[in-house]
Amino acid sequence: MTNEADSSALRKIDLMIMGAGPAGARAALRAKASGLRVVLVDENNDAGGQVWRPLPDGFSRLSGVASSAEARDGDALRLELRKAGVVCLFGHKVWNIGSDLRTDVISPEGSVSWLPSALLVATGTTERVIPFTGWTAPGVMGLAAATILLKSQNMLPGRSTLVAGNGPLLLAVANGILKAGGQVAAVIDLASRTDWMLTLPALKARPDLLWQGLRWQANLRLAGVPVLYRHGIDSVVSTPQGFDAHVKPVDSSGAPLSGAARVFSVDCVTVGHGLVPGTDVTRLLRARHRYAAESGGWIAESDEMGRTSVKGLYIAGDGAGVAGAAAAGAHGELAALACANDLGRISTEHYSRERTALLSQRRKPALFGRAMAGLMALREGAVAAIKPETIVCRCEDVTRAEIDAAAHEGARDLNQLKAWTRCGMGPCQGRTCSDVAGALLAIHVGSREDVGCFTGRAPLRPVSLAEVAGQYTYADIPIPKAAPL
Ligand SMILES: Cc1cc2nc3c(=O)[nH]c(=O)nc-3n(C[C@H](O)[C@H](O)[C@H](O)COP(=O)(O)OP(=O)(O)OC[C@H]3O[C@@H](n4cnc5c(N)ncnc54)[C@H](O)[C@@H]3O)c2cc1C
Repeated sequence: MTNEADSSALRKIDLMIMGAGPAGARAALRAKASGLRVVLVDENNDAGGQVWRPLPDGFSRLSGVASSAEARDGDALRLELRKAGVVCLFGHKVWNIGSDLRTDVISPEGSVSWLPSALLVATGTTERVIPFTGWTAPGVMGLAAATILLKSQNMLPGRSTLVAGNGPLLLAVANGILKAGGQVAAVIDLASRTDWMLTLPALKARPDLLWQGLRWQANLRLAGVPVLYRHGIDSVVSTPQGFDAHVKPVDSSGAPLSGAARVFSVDCVTVGHGLVPGTDVTRLLRARHRYAAESGGWIAESDEMGRTSVKGLYIAGDGAGVAGAAAAGAHGELAALACANDLGRISTEHYSRERTALLSQRRKPALFGRAMAGLMALREGAVAAIKPETIVCRCEDVTRAEIDAAAHEGARDLNQLKAWTRCGMGPCQGRTCSDVAGALLAIHVGSREDVGCFTGRAPLRPVSLAEVAGQYTYADIPIPKAAPL
């Protein structure tokens, strides 16, 4: 076991990159080419992140998914990393970062620590689900979770699936299910047709992706899948065959309108209301943050190169604000370039030339990605409509009524709410509930800025004491000298 006092056992490097999605992997390639001693760490078994998700060992892709552009892009990236000889620690989860950037990692062999001069956080996002009656039932899952089943578990989420929420993952998941041979009962979208049309000018920045979206919509029409715009899930009730999902029309804020619900009988409901940037590391290191609804929620303040308010700490990709996979790669490279410059490893000319090229490379995909992020932004009316008895924090079973009661009793920010109710105190450390819990508290308190975010705490991932302590005997524990009498 290593601790801060025992720094001789730390492995010293220039740059530690956390997360091997498009942002982290491209950053690693750029850092390596700039001569940095770089290590890329990810808890997955290979690079690719959420979008180019690697397969577990021994798995093969579903026939409809194998030939996809995403699968090819992921394979190409993994090959490039191997060819470049980047040091990659896959199957390793980072559970703690010290204020000196010491990175504590649980590897399959035990606990290891690294001491980098700089840390680049490229840990992506967490899916947001706005709770409704029945959302915690087995068989109701996130849209992003459904992409994981399709892409890396070789499984359909259900035989007959209702796909609901908002944003482009609706189309991606519904098409993935059809392609893999499943049935989609309907697509339920909080956004209106007009909301989609308004994104068109920005979507033209990436005609290839726009074309893909149009193809997805055409496929749904061909398969006879109804698409209900300006609708949301009101409740999901278990039946002997699966679920009855009750769907209602909503207004532009996502609040349900009066009127009869339509009922879909299915055996799976997959629902997602956007992505929330992962800020657990930047909060742990006490970087400055700001609330940016259009980027997914709270994000660490950073410049266009990913430098945060903490020296040596950089961020890139969707964790810095949702802008999509296509923009994440160039963002990662920008952050690695900034790091190489700040550590004095590249010339000023090289830095300015490459910076200009990468910024221009990122502009169009980021325009596209931000338009998509806008469609995924939190709809306050849907939050306000959560019923009192509905669980919001699923780790600790905290309901909306308990959050409201804590606010009435005087809880004024998320940390007070946590102390009052245990909301956000479970194994996920608030990753699943913090955005919605913050929005609920803000209804009483005023603004999201007033409510703030949870203070970052280790462990970043659930770890056992045995994993952290590793192999030792009591004789290894240093006994301090007794103080003189
Ligand atoms: C579950 C999920 C599924 C998605 N599916 C799609 C999709 O099908 N299509 C699409 O266009 N977009 C999808 N998205 C959005 C997509 O993830 C992003 O646009 C894109 O992948 C962002 O790239 P990134 O490099 O910023 O982060 P990511 O690709 O999310 O990569 C972050 C990486 O960090 C690693 N990581 C995080 N914390 C730790 C830790 N403590 N220790 C070790 N490793 C860690 C993760 O394992 C992950 O590999 C999905 C998002 C989510 C959350």
